[in-house]
Amino acid sequence: MDLNQLWQSVLGEIGLQISRPNFITWLKNSQLIEKKDGVALVALPNNFAKNWVQTKYHKIILGALRSIDENTKKVDFIVNLNQNPSPALLDKETDLENNSQLIFPEFKLDPETNLNPRYTLNSFVVGSSNEMTYAAASAVIDDIGKKYNPLFIHGGVGLGKTHLIQAIGNEIKNRYKNKVKVRYVPSEKFINDVVAGVRSKNMEPVKSKYRGVDVLIIDDIQSIGGKKTTEEEFFNTFNTLYENSRQIIISSDRPPNFLPALHERLRSRFEGGMIARIEYPDYELRMAVLKTKLGERGVSLDEGVISLIANKIQKNLRELDGALNRILFYRQVKNVEVDAKMAEQIINETVKQSSHNVNPNLIIKKVADYFDIQPADIAGKCRKKEFVEPRQVAIYLLRDLLDLSYPYIGEKIGKRDHTTAMYAYEKVSREINKSHDFSQKVLMIKDTIDKESNS
Ligand code: ADP
Ligand code: MG
Repeated sequence: MDLNQLWQSVLGEIGLQISRPNFITWLKNSQLIEKKDGVALVALPNNFAKNWVQTKYHKIILGALRSIDENTKKVDFIVNLNQNPSPALLDKETDLENNSQLIFPEFKLDPETNLNPRYTLNSFVVGSSNEMTYAAASAVIDDIGKKYNPLFIHGGVGLGKTHLIQAIGNEIKNRYKNKVKVRYVPSEKFINDVVAGVRSKNMEPVKSKYRGVDVLIIDDIQSIGGKKTTEEEFFNTFNTLYENSRQIIISSDRPPNFLPALHERLRSRFEGGMIARIEYPDYELRMAVLKTKLGERGVSLDEGVISLIANKIQKNLRELDGALNRILFYRQVKNVEVDAKMAEQIINETVKQSSHNVNPNLIIKKVADYFDIQPADIAGKCRKKEFVEPRQVAIYLLRDLLDLSYPYIGEKIGKRDHTTAMYAYEKVSREINKSHDFSQKVLMIKDTIDKESNS
């Protein structure tokens, strides 16, 4: 693949993740001008575009590059003044191009509720892995604030938590018109609001924003744990709403008793409501989701190819959707019908074939190699910084790549307590979000693990 071809595929991938107007405004005239030692150099037509793309799309671009060329470690951006516009994919959208100075919102989020109208109950496929949760959701919609409060939905990554909780919000909003005030908030956003309130010594805006609603939907609550002021504010908000019979809906990647840093009183409040789990999807559900997604895009695909995707990608519906997108994109760009064999190739090339041959010892070895220490040091007792960091990263990766239980991980890493493993996992997750350099480091280690396991 030459640079231009590679960039076109990357743009295809990015085009699926950001809105079309944004795509055209910011990325249409981008070019990949160099790729050396895992560093990709992307050129943009002016400084403004460069800064914008760098802050807003850096992660998406890196992710898209890595999904196509897994050797990519880093993306840099430069301004290329005498640039010929590249033959971008969406050249025909001239009407949108005329508006290219406008900054469009990423999604058309409803400003009142912060909900994304794309997530509906209609497009949520129900199967054995999520029917209990779906039933609980329906009960909440019928009987807001009374039946199951709070409703706590947990399950692994990409299993439909965000989709379902947003769909509940959209359904309530549509069914009860303006009588019921709904608000959706990702936990990160809640944290930011609280931090801003603390900084400006004025919590009133936070209070009125979150305590004045009938239905508060909070996504990924696991991010809140451990941040003291946020938790305090959240607890107060929770109590105010709860005592006034307002409905609270929460999603989490793990059950309440595995939210280590969360205050006991909050956890027991969660446990007092309805806890529903979304399990891994079975083959039928995966097939049905693929067909629903095809229907939404108004396209069809050979049944054998659909079945192949459903067979190959089992644990994550977001990856399932991503694989479908890549195949549809390939078909569109190459203008060929994709058969099962081609589809398999496309999936093999792009979806990281993680965890097949990955085992705990390989992870520990690769982390030790990276930090230039011995595997035994990772399991060892020494608390010097040069051992503690690798140890925590190893714990994080054991959980992230293999989904191992904390007690097992604790045992494996020097017979430590499961709470130590949880703490390490939390700490590394936070650090990854906070520090670009650190997240790159972890990505690189993951890379060496992937390489080894695929060879
Ligand atoms: P989570 O929040 O659990 O990580 P998401 O809700 O973001 O997962 O779901 C990932 C993708 O899979 C989304 O595109 C979503 O629409 C889709 N998806 C998940 N579950 C279903 C389902 N039951 N029916 C249809 N699409 C689903
Ligand atoms: Mg989610």
